[in-house]
Amino acid sequence: MTDLAAFAREKGVKYFMISFTDLFGGQRAKLVPAQAIEGMVEDGAGFAGFATWLDMTPAHPDMLAVPDPATVIQLPWKKDVAWVAANPIMEGEDVAQAPRNVLRRLVDDAAEMGLRVMTGVEAEFFLLTPEGDRISDPADTAEKPCYDQQAVMRRYDVIAEVCDYMLELGWGPYQNDHEDANGQFEMNWEFADALVTADRHSFFKFMVKSVAEKHGLRATFMPKPVEGLTGNGCHAHISVWDQSGETNVFATDKGTGPTAELGLSEQGAQFLGGIMKHAEALAAITNPTVNSYKRINAPRTTSGATWAPNTVTWTGNNRTHMVRVPGPGRFELRLPDGAVNPYLLQAVIIAAGLSGIRSKADPGPRHDIDMYAEGHLVTDAPKLPLNMLDAIRQFDADAELKAILGEEFSGSYMKMKLQEWNSFVAHFSAWERETTLDI
Ligand code: ADP
Ligand code: MG
Ligand code: MG
Ligand code: MG
Ligand code: MG
Repeated sequence: MTDLAAFAREKGVKYFMISFTDLFGGQRAKLVPAQAIEGMVEDGAGFAGFATWLDMTPAHPDMLAVPDPATVIQLPWKKDVAWVAANPIMEGEDVAQAPRNVLRRLVDDAAEMGLRVMTGVEAEFFLLTPEGDRISDPADTAEKPCYDQQAVMRRYDVIAEVCDYMLELGWGPYQNDHEDANGQFEMNWEFADALVTADRHSFFKFMVKSVAEKHGLRATFMPKPVEGLTGNGCHAHISVWDQSGETNVFATDKGTGPTAELGLSEQGAQFLGGIMKHAEALAAITNPTVNSYKRINAPRTTSGATWAPNTVTWTGNNRTHMVRVPGPGRFELRLPDGAVNPYLLQAVIIAAGLSGIRSKADPGPRHDIDMYAEGHLVTDAPKLPLNMLDAIRQFDADAELKAILGEEFSGSYMKMKLQEWNSFVAHFSAWERETTLDI
């Protein structure tokens, strides 16, 4: 295990950023001088939990964020500082609803079944002006801007800087591109254990925002930041391995099930079956904001397609469905968006997938159609939730998923999200005035 004090001496680190993630995905940190890190590793850094989104009251005792030294990263753009992910505890116990703790518990559940879930995420983002009200590049106006060579080069300084840092950190980045919306980009790095991917996903968001700010821009992962343009997805690719990480359990047999032809094993089909079964409920986590529902179920964008799903369907190598099986031994969940909490994303995938394996769930029929053109012909698949309240209610109705994620977490999450929804509906919008004033 990394000795953080020694790490600081070796690397010239002056401050540690002890960081945890709350229920809404907010990253919270204390900057701790290197001299004080030893005590923090033992006791944790103190926080008033109520001041964050963790469903606590002002009367709760101190929450202590205990750094996990294995996660330490010296900030490539500010070498004085090292970021380290922390696990929140209170009175000696893990805070049950803290997202990183929820994920750690589910990783342990998988390990008890002899399984190791490995995932990669595609965290799309926009580069906006510092005010955040428009795309930063005025020349980025193509109707089909995906892979736009000229436009990606106009943002080379930001993209290459972030990619260089990922190379330096050993994440195995392998491609960067301009995405399907004007002002939108995607950067891909290699998949890893779910917890490692969650930590990297968190750090990636922090890094992209920091580098964009350095260049006088503003990065956003908001699901639908610009009306009419393709939104920010956060697709997750999933495979399950044995404990040694040598055998991909999703590729071990061809089985006889409905996914056999695509190279996804019997257990792979069952894991997928769990995702399909719990999809409407897990949307409350994969699509956690009011704005999320402007990405899924969206009308066609100016580029011609939303690239987001609207129905609980799966298929082979076809990007119009909720789940795509792009090749043997893995599948892609296209539902999550940029607002997803990196830890809860992985947690809910594992929760639903393990439930599928335990119950030998059937993923149901494969639909090999263009969902955008022919989706109305599908009558045997549920529609995804239409808004955040719909999703919260679906989540509440899924007793099994709530239990696997943990009752304390599920209760807290729903409570905080309902409060958020209530705050949204209490907000007076221009739309209601326009449509109701003269009624
Ligand atoms: P696409 O845009 O075609 O969906 P990308 O190349 O942008 O795909 O992203 C693919 C992601 O899937 C990457 O993070 C990659 O590392 C990951 N991935 C590839 N193979 C596997 C696998 N067997 N298990 C989990 N993730 C995988
Ligand atoms: Mg104080
Ligand atoms: Mg991609
Ligand atoms: Mg993409
Ligand atoms: Mg994808």
